[in-house]
Amino acid sequence: METAKFYTLPQLPYRYDELQPYVSQEQLTLHHQKHHQAYVNSANAILERLDKARKEGADFDVKATLKELSFHIGGHLLHSLFWTNIAPPGKGGGKPTGTLGTALEKEFGSFERFKKEFSLAATSVEGSGWAALSFCRQTNRPIIMQIEKHNTNVYPMFTILMVIDVWEHAYYLDYKNERAKFVDAFWNIVNWGEVNKRLEKILK
Ligand code: MN
Repeated sequence: METAKFYTLPQLPYRYDELQPYVSQEQLTLHHQKHHQAYVNSANAILERLDKARKEGADFDVKATLKELSFHIGGHLLHSLFWTNIAPPGKGGGKPTGTLGTALEKEFGSFERFKKEFSLAATSVEGSGWAALSFCRQTNRPIIMQIEKHNTNVYPMFTILMVIDVWEHAYYLDYKNERAKFVDAFWNIVNWGEVNKRLEKILK
């Protein structure tokens, strides 16, 4: 099978104005078309540089290049997960049900307790980063993680189920410095159906 050799910006599964009032059209458009696109472009530029260096037998700064590459690939992959674990109000929000609802209740005692811990994880990330709900297949436990910049603390046995982007570029136009307000708003647009689907896929 012929596969793509470079990254591409995924289309959003909703219009730019559909996450309002929780995320404005301007905020979402910039975030997707400028910020996410920049990670895609930068990752591809590094891959092209690697291709060229290998073809020419030229040396490059391996440590610096790999660090830069992981930053941009991480940015691309996390944004791709983020866009699909949110959905327009009405379709998103509410409470998780099914396998996910059961797994969260078993781990955290209640959905409210999970929501509180996840919100605290998101609001307390230092600088730029993410909060992620991941799932460890060795222990079958959902685990909340903080991600600094785009460097995931995700190991081979972990799968990310849900993320929230808490870089300032994700919310500053709408919420200024009030990250906690953006995190509150996030709960109205979580796409639980998609998060549940990600969990069921790895439990199969
Ligand atoms: Mn972002």
